[in-house]
Amino acid sequence: MDLRKFIRALPKTETHLHIEGALPWEFLVRKDPVRFTDEPVFRSPDFRYDNFAQFESILIDHAMEIFSSPQDYHDVAKSIFNSLLDLNVRYLETSFHAGMIEFLGVPGQEILHAILSAVPVGLEVRVFLGISRNAYTDYLAPKLESAVESWEGLSGIDLHGPEDLPLDTWTEPLWAKAKHNGLVLKAHAGEFGPASNIEHAISNLGVKRIQHGVAAIKSESLMQKLLDHDVCLDMCPISNFKLRVIDEWIDHPLGDFLNRGIKCTLSTDDPLSFNNNLVDEYMACSDKLSMPIDQLITLVKNGFGVSSLTQSEKNTFYREIDLLWDDFKGNGVG
Ligand SMILES: [Zn+2]
Repeated sequence: MDLRKFIRALPKTETHLHIEGALPWEFLVRKDPVRFTDEPVFRSPDFRYDNFAQFESILIDHAMEIFSSPQDYHDVAKSIFNSLLDLNVRYLETSFHAGMIEFLGVPGQEILHAILSAVPVGLEVRVFLGISRNAYTDYLAPKLESAVESWEGLSGIDLHGPEDLPLDTWTEPLWAKAKHNGLVLKAHAGEFGPASNIEHAISNLGVKRIQHGVAAIKSESLMQKLLDHDVCLDMCPISNFKLRVIDEWIDHPLGDFLNRGIKCTLSTDDPLSFNNNLVDEYMACSDKLSMPIDQLITLVKNGFGVSSLTQSEKNTFYREIDLLWDDFKGNGVG
């Protein structure tokens, strides 16, 4: 068995996936086969974005073609979930963008339930509300407050949006209220922004799940803090490469973080934009970052470790992973 097949066979998790950014390309082809026939340049393997603004505008332009109702979220989610199951992804944390509540003009719970009602047998899904750093508008503020107060089925919140925007004063109390109500707290930080953004997310928002966190490599004290506070970095190396968060593959800190004992997981971020899947991410870690297979196994297990599955469910997955790994080594490949 080759490594790609082995990775595919392992039960896995995705813990950093934007549902709008995971829109399958086929939806666009089906909608307008003339306009969307071929794979566009931005989905070619060697394409790298010039900057975040270019990435964001291409993503929004394409996602807006499809997402116009909760039913669209349901249909897209169903397709994404089935593709993930096909790769033996068994646990998913995905976010939808709070701004879409205003764009669609529907209650956010309708989007949430449209996604949750698409979950197939065999895949555990947790849905997060993605809240931009500038989302607390007159329109959205009361909706964000009620989301963290009483939305049934919401698993957590995730800070989104350009990192050069400041952490506004509303953020801390909202994250505190979410924590009080048992939600899981996440924040995008240290992707384009500095290590201090990660520091703020941990200290001010009480977040133990950082999305990306690449910039942590620049601060020894922060890396110690990640260890001391058991903070997990949900990393997406292909996204980081294609968005030029790193200049060269060799600059990616994931292997270094793992060597230091910092908890990291592996995910795809926005597969619509990067044309990647989860197996590609593991193969990039092996091929581009020269990570040994036991580190890939650590990434797989960490995904279950940080999940909200029960300990007994986690143990079942750990055993399955160990058996497959033993079998793979037994074939003289490991
Ligand atoms: Zn992200």
